[in-house]
Amino acid sequence: RTTIMNAYNELASEGLIEGHVGRGTLVKRTYFHAHDDEYMNDEMPSWLFGLASGEEVLPDPDARLLSDLSELGGQREIISLAQATPSSTMLPAELIHTLMNDDLLADRQSALGYCPVEGSLPLRHHIAAQMRQRGVSVDVQNILILSGSTQGIGLIGRFLLQPGDEVVVEVPTYLGAIQTFRALGARVIGVPTDHEGMRVDLLESILARRQPRLIYTLPTFQNPTGTVLSPERRRRLLLLSKRYQIPILEDDPYSELYFGSERPQPLKALDKHGHVLYLSTFSKILAPGLRVAWLAAPEPVIERLSLHKQVFDLNTNALGQWIVNKLYEHDLLSTHLSHVRQNYQQKLLLMLQTIERSWPTGYRISIPAGGMHLWCRLPGEMRARTLLREAAQEQVVFIIGEPFHVDGGGHQYLRLSFASPTEEQLVTGIERIGKAMHRLQSR
Ligand code: PMP
Repeated sequence: RTTIMNAYNELASEGLIEGHVGRGTLVKRTYFHAHDDEYMNDEMPSWLFGLASGEEVLPDPDARLLSDLSELGGQREIISLAQATPSSTMLPAELIHTLMNDDLLADRQSALGYCPVEGSLPLRHHIAAQMRQRGVSVDVQNILILSGSTQGIGLIGRFLLQPGDEVVVEVPTYLGAIQTFRALGARVIGVPTDHEGMRVDLLESILARRQPRLIYTLPTFQNPTGTVLSPERRRRLLLLSKRYQIPILEDDPYSELYFGSERPQPLKALDKHGHVLYLSTFSKILAPGLRVAWLAAPEPVIERLSLHKQVFDLNTNALGQWIVNKLYEHDLLSTHLSHVRQNYQQKLLLMLQTIERSWPTGYRISIPAGGMHLWCRLPGEMRARTLLREAAQEQVVFIIGEPFHVDGGGHQYLRLSFASPTEEQLVTGIERIGKAMHRLQSR
């Protein structure tokens, strides 16, 4: 492939071939003569030939399918159970509107100027205090504000991994992380999960044989399965990380969305030795459009990652940080969150009831105690990919299990997000999936 691309580049740089959007690459008819209208013809810039195809970043056609699905979800008539995002009614537009009206004019610099690469100091203080309340012993110097936890996964990957290094992830796991690690040239190794989260016993046998550089885990309301790693396994995982001296990246976007009476503690709360790099975000609890997330980690890690971050974006969007900080200052976050939790729990119940009455028997679901997703195994031999095709005809989409699996499995699974649709869309969407399932079974 590289050889062919180089050959194309060479031909293009000598002016022998030219690319035409929609028609492909053709031999240039008049490559020798510079015409007066040379500038006016429809040649494509030759450097475009040198651009990699993008497959090194998104080699997985399913990952592309996902961005297509997100676009589909934006169309009115299609019901999307694909996106893990707050619904329009849960986006705190009114709160932000009021804050802007009341405070923005007085806060021009902090809201609209540059800010330190580590993030707004008052916001870092609020986050550190909140993490201490959750049992994590951190201070402001342990907090780095990020442009989404996506940036955090990327920075940590760059910081810790060389091409060819191995990263251990759960099977299934968040596909965005798989993509990021692979784009950095890492090899992603899967460790199976069950109803108590990662099979830490199996991790142990992996660590005894190989030398991964990082363990990526979602211990609380895992994406996509919704499971919570049991306390026993948490302790064992930390022990292994210490014994083999391998850092753990704890990705925790969902733990504030708990439906029980108690907020689950992060794995980081048990971390006595600084092996856990903790990542969380305001995307799921406030709004993904703010692009504000944070890393809690030992100070040397924060210092080094700040340097890396500076190269890429100087600082996280100051307006987003200003908004989150104001919500803390006015103590509006906790009220908003209890509202969101209640809403999502209600939607989950509605989804479960609709599944029960409208799907054929034989499916298996694990009911999550928090988060945004329901993970389902389809009945009999039914494949999620076939169902998606059938369901798309009914104008409903979801995410199939395969892209979450680094071991090539997941054909019979699907992930349904209950946070983003309205209650009405949720009921209709689930009923339509049921209809598609019945139709497939009757063939
Ligand atoms: N990690 C997980 C597990 C997620 O589910 C998501 C969003 N789908 C992210 C990270 C990315 O979130 P952010 O908007 O903070 O980049």
